[in-house]
Amino acid sequence: MPAEPETSFVDRHAEIERRISEACARAGRDRASVQLVAVTKTWPPEVVNEAIADGLRVLGENRVQEALAKAPMCSSAEWHLIGPLQRNKIRHALTLFSVLHGIDSVPLLHDLARISDETGLRPDILLEVNVANEATKHGFTAEAVPDAIRAILEDGVLRVVGLMTVPPWTLEPETSRPHFRALRELRHQLEQDFSIALPELSMGMSADFEVAIEEGATYVRIGSALFGARNAGAWKPVRSPDSDSYYLQV
Ligand SMILES: *Cc1c(COP(=O)(O)O)cnc(C)c1O
Repeated sequence: MPAEPETSFVDRHAEIERRISEACARAGRDRASVQLVAVTKTWPPEVVNEAIADGLRVLGENRVQEALAKAPMCSSAEWHLIGPLQRNKIRHALTLFSVLHGIDSVPLLHDLARISDETGLRPDILLEVNVANEATKHGFTAEAVPDAIRAILEDGVLRVVGLMTVPPWTLEPETSRPHFRALRELRHQLEQDFSIALPELSMGMSADFEVAIEEGATYVRIGSALFGARNAGAWKPVRSPDSDSYYLQV
């Protein structure tokens, strides 16, 4: 849903804020119970800083290297990883991200627990669930999530705070509702079965965030409705040959 090119960032942000507030009101929820995650992937530091200057403090990125390359050039913010995490990028990811939304395998959880223990860096963990059982999607099946929770509780290191999902792509928001509801119901079941609290539900993007809020989302991840159509390929992060740092190649 690309924004009109002539609208300003401030206007688009205000419009999203209004729609979030109205969805909260419809659902009888407090506005403070929903956190807007501004999805800044593909956008350069100057655009990210414009968003931060307009009051957005929680940023979502789906690639570890891209976020590590940008963060030093951006104002202070809270960075969330919303995409999958590869096992060989855990150490790098933990230096920046305070919340990991896309954790999707038990081996990854064990590696995360070990490295988290070693470094003392303890991000919030959300388990990604492929609620619609799409063959091409990341995430645990609903049936596999209990094993993941068991693995976390056995390791005793990680702080699991909730579930995340990306339903099948659609322009019709109501199509996502049953998937959001399924995630909420799965959360409820897991809370009962394991006697744990899973307060966070990360669900809803530009096309369907209002429905997600009505179904209980606590994090909505919004990119194109805030920033416009993504400018993929404008620049890319490159790993510097003689260090662990990254820089941008424009
Ligand atoms: C890109 C992305 C988003 C944002 O998508 P929009 O439709 O642009 O709002 C949200 N969540 C994930 C996991 C993404 O990769």
